Amino acid sequence: MSFDFHLHSDYSDGKLAPAALVAHVHAHNVTQMALTDHDTLAGCDAAAAACAALGIAFVPGVELSVSWRGQSIHVIGLGVGLGQQSDTSAGATALHLHASDVVARRRARVGQIAARLQHRGRIDITAALDEMLRLPGVPTRMHVARALVGAGHAENVQDAFDRWLNHGRPGYAPVEWPDLVSSISVLNAAGGKAVLAHPHRYRLSAGALRGLLGEFKGAGGAAMEVSVGGMSRNDLDRLATLARRFGLRASAGSDFHDPAVPWNPPGRFAKLPADLECIAEQL
Ligand code: AMP
Ligand code: MN
Ligand code: MN
Ligand code: MN
Repeated sequence: MSFDFHLHSDYSDGKLAPAALVAHVHAHNVTQMALTDHDTLAGCDAAAAACAALGIAFVPGVELSVSWRGQSIHVIGLGVGLGQQSDTSAGATALHLHASDVVARRRARVGQIAARLQHRGRIDITAALDEMLRLPGVPTRMHVARALVGAGHAENVQDAFDRWLNHGRPGYAPVEWPDLVSSISVLNAAGGKAVLAHPHRYRLSAGALRGLLGEFKGAGGAAMEVSVGGMSRNDLDRLATLARRFGLRASAGSDFHDPAVPWNPPGRFAKLPADLECIAEQL
């Protein structure tokens, strides 16, 4: 029995369509999975069908963009109402409205990034980005990074972020996402569990991270990711200590995006410490 509660399809910045993602997950011997695309549930119905065919337990999920003290953070909802077609409850409808507002902000941001790359960076990838906005998936900076690589302006995705897209670089465009309290409550109202994603990745002091976890728990957050693909043992130990201290359940996942990244397949992340209560028991 192995789970993975953090996976992306091409409904956001993953490379695989939901059915292909599920087949890839199955090939890696994962028996319970959540689809957690950025700010959309659109892939969940297709993923659920593919999981049913392969005997994988499916958890509908989403990774919401949230602003906290001026920083972007990510809050995953696990076990939220299924995709648009299959759940028309008030909670699921409110979550879809919340998410489509975020997607509108994401689409506007791509235009701002294109303008900044043109005026501050003196490079023009507007045509590629316009084309990207015609695709059905949620546009992210990952897509912009891939377009920069494709146009020869960066060696790889990481280089594209470092040179062009990160804070302080020419293509950086500030963005305001919904706040933490409203994001958690919309996930709870949709029947989901709110999980703070990859807390080790935020550029926060130890004190600020404790502040975030306190607010997260106080607002109705259920769990935090303690084990994520590619993280260090030291970070895992630190997050496990914080989960115990704040009475949060533990979640884990690969944050898989791309089969061409060999070190980050579905299902690959360190085992959770045995004393932590896992969010799987509540799904
Ligand atoms: P965003 O559109 O800002 O939410 O970013 C979308 C995705 O880009 C994230 O979910 C990551 O997969 C990836 N990403 C964000 N920041 C970086 C970074 N500094 N380096 C590499 N990948 C990143
Ligand atoms: Mn991503
Ligand atoms: Mn994330
Ligand atoms: Mn993710």
